[in-house]
Amino acid sequence: MLVGHVAVGLAGKRVVPGISLGTLVLAALAADLLWCFFLMVGLERVEIRVAGPTLMKSVVISEVPYSHSLLMDGLWASVFALAYFRVRRSARGAGVVAGAVLSHWVLDFASHHRDMPLAPGLDRVYGLGLWNSLPATVAVEGGFWLVAVVLYSRATRAKTPTGRYGFWIGVVVLTSAWWGNVAGPPPRDLVAARITSLIFFALVVAWAWWMNRLRPVPA
Ligand SMILES: [Zn+2]
Repeated sequence: MLVGHVAVGLAGKRVVPGISLGTLVLAALAADLLWCFFLMVGLERVEIRVAGPTLMKSVVISEVPYSHSLLMDGLWASVFALAYFRVRRSARGAGVVAGAVLSHWVLDFASHHRDMPLAPGLDRVYGLGLWNSLPATVAVEGGFWLVAVVLYSRATRAKTPTGRYGFWIGVVVLTSAWWGNVAGPPPRDLVAARITSLIFFALVVAWAWWMNRLRPVPA
């Protein structure tokens, strides 16, 4: 899932306007950022066994217990919430940040084929496999994305043209990247893919921070 996670950040801003959109998107994408890092250092593994016409129709072997297991995502959620509380002293904000980190597991559990573990060391993996159906993915993840974009754009006001156009350009870039993910061919070079993914996720977080400055919530 991609835009579904960013949608959590956009929706979270509506719930707690005092938290930066950058913090919310960082929390919602934390598992994927950690995943890129753990792949690079060899702690986790993804392998395309049989390449199909799209990534969803390919046979993918993935071992992601440290970035994507329920137990570890609970741990990452606590780390993020504690860090947020230390800096901002807001229990409500810390709770929302923890919820955003944990939402990643729930959304990936709904969308992935069975590859979501409960804890490191446990072999059983879970997933409802929304991704098996392109129309269902478009309806559920795309629908959530659309609602979150509309909610966020209505809850905030662009201070400058950059805040207005930068937001919509980001939405278009994210939507096309997501479309490439769900409907495009699987990546040929997985080593290059994890580096570009890490850069892409970091840019999405940077965009969210920037938009937060340029699109304040009206008092
Ligand atoms: Zn993920």
